[in-house]
Amino acid sequence: MTRQCWFCASETTATRHDRVVGLHRDVQAGPTWYVGVRTKWQSNSVRVPRCERCHHGHIIEQSMLALSIAAPIAYAASGQLDTLLGILPSTSGGRVTAVIWAVVACLPALVWIATRQAWLPWDRIAPRHLRHARRHPAVQQLREDGWHYRPGPFPYWQNAKDPDHQRLSGPSARPRRILGRITGLLGLASSVVTVVLYFRDSELAALFLVLACGLFFLSSKIDPEV
Ligand SMILES: [Zn+2]
Repeated sequence: MTRQCWFCASETTATRHDRVVGLHRDVQAGPTWYVGVRTKWQSNSVRVPRCERCHHGHIIEQSMLALSIAAPIAYAASGQLDTLLGILPSTSGGRVTAVIWAVVACLPALVWIATRQAWLPWDRIAPRHLRHARRHPAVQQLREDGWHYRPGPFPYWQNAKDPDHQRLSGPSARPRRILGRITGLLGLASSVVTVVLYFRDSELAALFLVLACGLFFLSSKIDPEV
């Protein structure tokens, strides 16, 4: 069966490149016995046909976005921003280096804007950006029926799961749920350690912060109910 790519209108057969748009509604929140609040909602998704070229184009676009956020943070963290603004004492040579690195740090953002605006004459880039998927008639129909964008309410904003893969349920979900909760508790412990180390002025605080974020992320991936 041939279908038309929603982003470039070319013919496509494979479904593995489809963009899955997740939607949610009927959000309910209630307290749990362990930590925090258990949020429940209804989820739904639409498969928007996409060809291989547009799929790869969107990966390039998203990588550029991630880089354009990470590069300025890395720049500021390396102390170059302080040199540039004159907060740290430096030689004129050091100042020039800081300016050069500032330009390098802004480059991914420029490339990302150019990618989104389709200014680059590179045929591997999708002619329409990822958000165009939201204009698909099937998505718009669900919006009219009261569905909201994104697979879940904040902060459950992960990309929509492929509807072809069934959600876990029944006895097989139990070990995963327990493991997910243990991981979540370890993440909570790491957050506490982070705060303690921070007030002790220990550089290990950053390490535990990363560990806590990693554990929370893992927990959200493991626990089938989250
Ligand atoms: Zn396409």
